[in-house]
Parts: sequence; structure tokens; C-alpha cells
Amino acid sequence: MQISHIEHIGIAVKSLKDAIPYYENMLGLKCYSIEEVADQKVKTAFFMVGQTKIELLEPTSEESTIAAFIEKRGEGIHHIAFCVDNAADALTELGEKGIRLIDKCPRKGAEGLNIGFLHPKSTGGVLTEICEKPECK
Ligand code: ZN
Repeated sequence: MQISHIEHIGIAVKSLKDAIPYYENMLGLKCYSIEEVADQKVKTAFFMVGQTKIELLEPTSEESTIAAFIEKRGEGIHHIAFCVDNAADALTELGEKGIRLIDKCPRKGAEGLNIGFLHPKSTGGVLTEICEKPECK
């Protein structure tokens, strides 16, 4: 497994509408996409920073893991996503090395990418996402 770069940083927010102006008006970034990921009960907003994205995550339901996160820890950094060329292989390799996997097999995340999460218990408390992009070879 080889990580090419940080694909994105996921940030939990209560409201995209309230959060986006900070990134646009203060930091001068441009929101280029807003997408609902029904599977994860979140609405996402994306900003490009070099080759890394900021992914804002707003819960669309009380049952969303993002809602639970905000309830427990408040708004803030939720996860970090590393880019690999093959998520299935990376998850298998990490599982074999003893990392606890939230996803044993990749699933579809925002932007249609294959993604899988590692459990924070195995990663020093950082919820870690493996994100596949074929061009990250
Ligand atoms: Zn993510």
C-alpha cells in the first residue's frame, strides 16, 4: 500500500449554510460541489486546497454518525482521508497487520469514490479513511 497524499479532511458542521461563508469569504476558497450521501445521512460541501480537499459534513438525520459526533464532541475535524490506488488491497493489508476495520470492503463515498474507514481505536484516536483514486498510483 502506498499513500500518495491526503485526499481530504472531513469536518463535522451543524449547518453547511452557516459554515460555507467562513471558507469562502474569510479563506477565499470556492465551494465547488454540494452533494448528499444518503447512505451516510450527510450532506457534503467540497473545497479544493492544492490537491487536498476540505469536506464539510452536515448531518441530514439524527441517526447520522455525524450528528452523534457533534453531540459528543462538538463541531470540528472528524476524519482524515488518505489517497491510495486500490482501497480493497489497502484495507486487506491493514486488516492483516491487525488494524481494526470499520469497512472490511470498500463502499461508495462522496464523489463516487471507493472508500473504507479504519477504527480510531487502532489509529491513535484519528478516524481514518482510505480513499481510492486510480490516478494515485
Ligand atoms: Zn471522507
